[in-house]
Amino acid sequence: MYIRPFDPWRSKLCTCPFKYTLNVYTGCDHACVYCYITSYIPNAFRVRTKEGLLIKLERELRRLDRRFIVSLSYSSDPYPTVERELGITRKVLQLFERYGVRCMILTKSDIFSRDLDILRRLRCAVGITVTTVDEDKATLLEPNAPRPSARIKALKKAARMGIPVYARIDPIIPFYTWEDFEETLDALSFVQHITVSTLKLRPDSMKRMKAKFPGLMAKLWPLYEKGERIGGYYYLPAELRFKILREARKKVEEKGITFGSCREGYYSHPTCDGSHLVPP
Ligand code: SF4
Repeated sequence: MYIRPFDPWRSKLCTCPFKYTLNVYTGCDHACVYCYITSYIPNAFRVRTKEGLLIKLERELRRLDRRFIVSLSYSSDPYPTVERELGITRKVLQLFERYGVRCMILTKSDIFSRDLDILRRLRCAVGITVTTVDEDKATLLEPNAPRPSARIKALKKAARMGIPVYARIDPIIPFYTWEDFEETLDALSFVQHITVSTLKLRPDSMKRMKAKFPGLMAKLWPLYEKGERIGGYYYLPAELRFKILREARKKVEEKGITFGSCREGYYSHPTCDGSHLVPP
């Protein structure tokens, strides 16, 4: 089955409503340093297509319970670089249109602006992740992803077309992206919902972060060592984590934007993931 119930490793802190997820591709070439898919997908930064995806997907869509949302994607990005050339996600969206599927898009690319003609006809919410609007920091963190300014420009275009839009500021990294949180939020102040999440590390992403950001990790890792270990992830100490989340929530809500947090065991309203934006 390509469409599966979303289950973030049975995380006890996940508050997502029931939804399905589909990874159009295997792997993701944005190659974010903090990415956790490398802990369970071999060669995760090399994108592969899935054999017979569109034919099998159509069979699955005929049987799908269409009350529930299909989310693209959580263990990859629906718009890796190769999508510009292959257009497989575009074909998936055409199938969604044919079968009346409600969906959510989450991406770190601007390629989705090519598909706004379809997205505007779907019952859909479109979201981008922006960890920071500081383009130099973003390039270090997400070396192959399009620039945050390009993602934001594309999302503004979607908003102008009347498509429900949301954003994730995720991960929030203390001493780094947290420093730019207000500027990032300002740049995203046109969205309807923002989901935040503090940096959670797996052993392999921790090693990549230490190799690429030795100075930052010299300050950060001792905090994680004092923090919690939840479902195989290193979390910041609860006191610091909730301090960051409280401040983030205040700043987001002051802008009249609804606030959600992801796998934090912290307040979200009306949903953590923005799925309330998808028309019924
Ligand atoms: S965009 Fe997401 S899936 Fe792709 S490398 Fe970055 S964190 Fe991993």
